[in-house]
Amino acid sequence: MQDTQSMQTLKWREKTLHVDGLDCASCARELQEVICRLDNVGECSLTYATGKLHLRYQGSLDKIKNLVKAHGYQLRESHEEEKGDAVAAQRVKQAAWAALFLLLAVVASAFYQPLSIPFLLVTIIVGGQTTFRRAWQALLQRRLDMNVLMTTAVIGAIIIGEWWEGSVVAFLFAASNALETYTTEKNRRSIRTLMREMPEAAHKLVEGIPETVNVATIADGDLILVRPGEQVPLDGVVIDGVSWINEAAITGEAMPQNKEQGSRVYAGTLNGNGSLTVRVTGTWQDSTLTKIVRLVEEAQEHRVPLEQFVDRFARVYTPVVMLLAAAVAVMGPLTQNGTWGEWIYKGLALLLVACPCSLVLAAPVTVVAALTNAARQGVLIKGGVFLEAMGTVQAILFDKTGTLTKGEPEVKQIYAAGDFPEDEVLAVAAGLEAHSEHLLARAVRQKAEELGIKPLLTTGFTAIAGKGIQGVINDKFYLVGSLAYLNENGIATEELQQLPQRGETVIAVACEKRLLGALLIKDSVRKEGAPVIEALRQLGIKSMQMLTGDRQQAAAALGIELGLDRVRAELLPQDKEKTVRQMTETWGQVAMVGDGINDAPALAAATVGIAMGAAGSPTALETADVALMGDDLTNLPYLIRLGRQATAVIRQNIVLSLLIKTIAILLVFPGWLSLWLAIVADMGASLLVTLNGMRLLTFKKKA
Ligand code: ADP
Ligand code: MG
Repeated sequence: MQDTQSMQTLKWREKTLHVDGLDCASCARELQEVICRLDNVGECSLTYATGKLHLRYQGSLDKIKNLVKAHGYQLRESHEEEKGDAVAAQRVKQAAWAALFLLLAVVASAFYQPLSIPFLLVTIIVGGQTTFRRAWQALLQRRLDMNVLMTTAVIGAIIIGEWWEGSVVAFLFAASNALETYTTEKNRRSIRTLMREMPEAAHKLVEGIPETVNVATIADGDLILVRPGEQVPLDGVVIDGVSWINEAAITGEAMPQNKEQGSRVYAGTLNGNGSLTVRVTGTWQDSTLTKIVRLVEEAQEHRVPLEQFVDRFARVYTPVVMLLAAAVAVMGPLTQNGTWGEWIYKGLALLLVACPCSLVLAAPVTVVAALTNAARQGVLIKGGVFLEAMGTVQAILFDKTGTLTKGEPEVKQIYAAGDFPEDEVLAVAAGLEAHSEHLLARAVRQKAEELGIKPLLTTGFTAIAGKGIQGVINDKFYLVGSLAYLNENGIATEELQQLPQRGETVIAVACEKRLLGALLIKDSVRKEGAPVIEALRQLGIKSMQMLTGDRQQAAAALGIELGLDRVRAELLPQDKEKTVRQMTETWGQVAMVGDGINDAPALAAATVGIAMGAAGSPTALETADVALMGDDLTNLPYLIRLGRQATAVIRQNIVLSLLIKTIAILLVFPGWLSLWLAIVADMGASLLVTLNGMRLLTFKKKA
């Protein structure tokens, strides 16, 4: 009995909560540490950009709630209404009250100087309360953070009789807190708007009759009705009806897509004029949109290299400036001219300068804005690292089928060897391809259906990646695949050399050791292909190459048409990977663009692996570093420009912060840096850094 009870209290739970009102990146990191240190918390991670708190904990949440509250934020469960705006409003109110009392102090001082002191004291208490409370929390945990620095500065100012200075500083805390809460909440909201695209109700078909229910109650395999003008509530496959759907929420492409029986539809997309019956695939938690939002959020957690540099710097910078402040306050009056009051004042000003706030903000705000901008274009970047890497990529490798071509191959010609009937060639090929997932297989099946030819029943099917397929029909062994594949199996294919070739892929068909014929398949080139390659060249990409398992002749024609530097043909999946590694040695940073399924090893080997058409392929979405949800190559130049712009903005932010800090430190010594100026400098720098980073929210896709 006792045992089961202790077992129960030991039970670990996992939960995602929200912290509303987080207003600085370093505070988020500190709060995370404090929560992690609680006895009943196993794991925790708090993401500044979204305010999401992932917890593994035992017992009740009360302790955690109180702790968050003590730091001046609000803890909220996922289903509760967000309080970010409320927190921001509260901060604004605090600042307004502080301003009012400061004003009263000014008025009072006009009549009788000492009369202003009570007003100044109230200003300090009202304006500084959040900071003081956090400072107290930090001291309880024996930590020195920016709040402690600021509180020390205010108390110090009071002690040396600088009441006015102290209260102006406290008012400025309140103002900067309000401003930062407001701007970060705004930034955070732009990520949440992605999630807002998700409708909450769905019309479930129960024995053919629509019933409006919450999406959370719908299961895999249920039928739902999507009426004209409504949002699709869950991912699924159309089983009845025709319509146009705007998929911008997923792919960033606003041009409506035609949907009919068998088409995939995605949660969050907007239905046009038709009514659709959809068979749901997976719950709303499995939906592509939910995955996108989760991945965008997770992307914030990986820090970019520049950010790691900043963190290391801040860890040295703050204690050094604090020591300097102490030295100035103590050593100054002993060795130099001037009173204790004057030197302590200088020391306090330095304490304020020691805060690394704007520096810590430099990267995360920018990265969040850039990732959000990309997500709106249907480009999913799995972390700031890849964003930065895209900006410095030297070479880009492309898969052919489905990447540079439309991925809608068609059989253009059927060739029969000797007097073997053409229809037989197709019947055999379609029979084997019935088992294959390959894009080419679809073309073969389609042709057979179009000509009304019945595929022959195949057993013992095997696929050899990058080569072809084999199987048994009527006790005979058949091969379908590349010429090289047939040659390997001892089948002569000289006869096929004379076939006209204008970029077609030749698929040979053989029975036992005899060549039966071939299919010429053509997949048209994406029309944006050549302009995109040209745009990439303009952006300074040094080498662009095609990697394909197809034959040299077919690939070469395409390479010339697109303006590529080189075409590497007849590669097996592992050869593609090896090529990527070689290219990485030559060029340093290499991006590989592929369809994400049979190109997975090559995508993984590249500095940045980019998957096309990821909306339709969950594996590609999970494995790639960058997922292009739509099939749009024009996102490549955009990605490179975005990566470069983001890196530039982060650098600007770092330089700006350091510059302002340096100037502030230099101004201390001639006694020109007043306490309030020190705060204004810091506040100004934080604000500039935030606004500069947020510019990326409106970065345009077209140059
Ligand atoms: P890519 O590199 O263009 O994506 P793959 O590596 O998938 O092409 O395939 C390379 C070649 O192998 C194809 O051009 C084709 O000749 C042959 N092949 C692969 N799979 C099949 C299949 N299912 N049916 C016929 N041929 C195939
Ligand atoms: Mg491919």
